[in-house]
Amino acid sequence: MKVGRLVIGGGAPVRVQSMTNTRTDDIRATVRQARRLERVGCELVRITVPDERAVQALPEIRRRLRLPLVADVHFDHRLALAALRAGFDKVRVNPGNIGSTRKVKEVIRCAADCGAAIRVGVNAGSIARPLVARHGGPTVAAMLESLAECLEPFEQLRFRDVVLSAKTISVPDTIAVCRAIARRWRYPLHLGLTEAGLPLAGATRSAAALVPLLLEGIGDTIRVSLAGDPVREVAVAWDLLGALELRRRGPMVYACPTCGRTEIDVERLARQVERALGDTRQPLRIAVMGCVVNGPGEARAADFGICGGRGRGAIFVRGKVVKTVPESELVTELARLVRESTGLGED
Ligand code: SF4
Repeated sequence: MKVGRLVIGGGAPVRVQSMTNTRTDDIRATVRQARRLERVGCELVRITVPDERAVQALPEIRRRLRLPLVADVHFDHRLALAALRAGFDKVRVNPGNIGSTRKVKEVIRCAADCGAAIRVGVNAGSIARPLVARHGGPTVAAMLESLAECLEPFEQLRFRDVVLSAKTISVPDTIAVCRAIARRWRYPLHLGLTEAGLPLAGATRSAAALVPLLLEGIGDTIRVSLAGDPVREVAVAWDLLGALELRRRGPMVYACPTCGRTEIDVERLARQVERALGDTRQPLRIAVMGCVVNGPGEARAADFGICGGRGRGAIFVRGKVVKTVPESELVTELARLVRESTGLGED
């Protein structure tokens, strides 16, 4: 299926999604943040549409951005209709909180008319009470039953441009429910752990939930939900896909863990390398190693590498030492060599 110009599912690469956290009615801030997200590799930006003021901003936001946009809507189906009419490529709704089936069908017909897609999302926290009571809690079975109910109007209207999602804060439940969805339905599936947390813990929990699924070929879009600047979500998502060798974008910086032999400031240098090459899109492996014991071997296995000596460091390019420079010049020199060899220096 297509969301805007982006193909999702059916063997397409796993897509990276994030969400703006600006006030949607602040058009400038929302557009600026969406552009920052796009620059770091976000392929699908979700924007919340909480009220009429946000609705007023949607046509202008749409006009200023080219990447596929998803409207996040709860409770009021008219907000979803407005987003679709404003040219958003997808709406994310939880049919369980939209109200009557008639309203859900109105959104489906509008999406069909506009050529847009709909993400049907259920969250453990918003399953209808009778269902929760019957299952003894917001269990995996309850989420599946809720999703099946939500899908009924879509199936009645033969609307196929659907992406599914089921989110919970539990890692084991997320894995179980997504596996069950992938077995039962053919629609593309969005993966994410809701309310994953602060950056480090959130990235770890998201990885714990998403990695088993992605390795099984489950999941067509991902979001790594983290509190704070959403740009970090995109960086973690790419790190995750890169580590699993599913997709690569930009340099992956490897650093040794440091030990008593470390002779250069590995952590600082690795951060500086990441920053210096942040605009590089080529999927390069760059190693930052603290000493000559394991350093040269590891650095040689990477496309580029720095290997520390006392106050100095060797720079490796595709397995060969090309230079030894003072520690203070390592990053600049490495960045120059990367740009030179990838053609970026000629821009
Ligand atoms: S590369 Fe050297 S400094 Fe880094 S962890 Fe290994 S032995 Fe220690």
